[in-house]
Amino acid sequence: TPIVHLEDIGKSYGNIHALRGVSLSVRQGEITCVLGDNGAGKSTLIKIIAGLHDYTSGTMSVNGQERHFSSPRESLDSGIATVYQDLALAPLMSVWRNFFLGNELTKGPFGLLDAARMKRIAQEELTRMGISIPDLEQPVGKLSGGQRQCVAIARAIHFGAKVLILDEPTAALGVNQSGIVLKYVVKARDAGIGVVFITHNPHHAYLVGNHFVVLKLGRVALDTQRADITLEQ
Ligand code: ADP
Ligand code: ADP
Repeated sequence: TPIVHLEDIGKSYGNIHALRGVSLSVRQGEITCVLGDNGAGKSTLIKIIAGLHDYTSGTMSVNGQERHFSSPRESLDSGIATVYQDLALAPLMSVWRNFFLGNELTKGPFGLLDAARMKRIAQEELTRMGISIPDLEQPVGKLSGGQRQCVAIARAIHFGAKVLILDEPTAALGVNQSGIVLKYVVKARDAGIGVVFITHNPHHAYLVGNHFVVLKLGRVALDTQRADITLEQ
């Protein structure tokens, strides 16, 4: 069963119908690419899953249960993490401290860890996911755009995300930095995460996706699966 399932979802802002009859499943270990031009409804879809907006009609189920999130916290508590383009990283703070900026999101006792321990955990997690950042004391703002995306994603995974919503993670990046992020998105998928990859870049979607949903003026114009995609390492 899908982790997140939207069935016939509609969302209006006053008399603007941002989404109409949208059905979509997010499954573990899959990369669902959501494509569409400006105004297609991509942000509205994210906001519903991330708990920023409720939907007007239809049903959203998470782990088989109907849900109406009334805050981002509820979405997060259901294992859904959203990585926005601004990444919610503090640029002047060290990489490892940024990694633990999410610590209030966990139920564990991370607040009690000492600095050396936190740094080690951050290093292990980043290494495990194949992100090489030699000096975790450097401010996160010094990292490349692709590395910053990876840190934000690694943090979400470390703190228990089962579903990752990535809002245009490559939009501001060039070819090399996009490559870093795309490889990392594949690693997240291989770790069993259900990834929703919002993009208006069909090429990036094609490189990593196995499920493609194209929105057009608030409707699903295409929903197709492909099982045979691998990304060259
Ligand atoms: P996308 O992210 O694909 O560009 P959006 O979800 O932002 O699409 O927008 C879908 C439609 O809803 C557009 O017509 C947009 O103008 C409208 N819309 C989005 N947010 C709001 C809002 N807060 N109030 C009114 N209309 C909105
Ligand atoms: P939210 O909709 O979550 O409040 P947004 O960033 O989408 O946040 O919008 C901020 C404000 O700008 C909202 O109050 C909304 O009414 C307005 N707005 C955003 N996008 C549009 C749009 N495409 N058309 C009309 N109003 C919009």
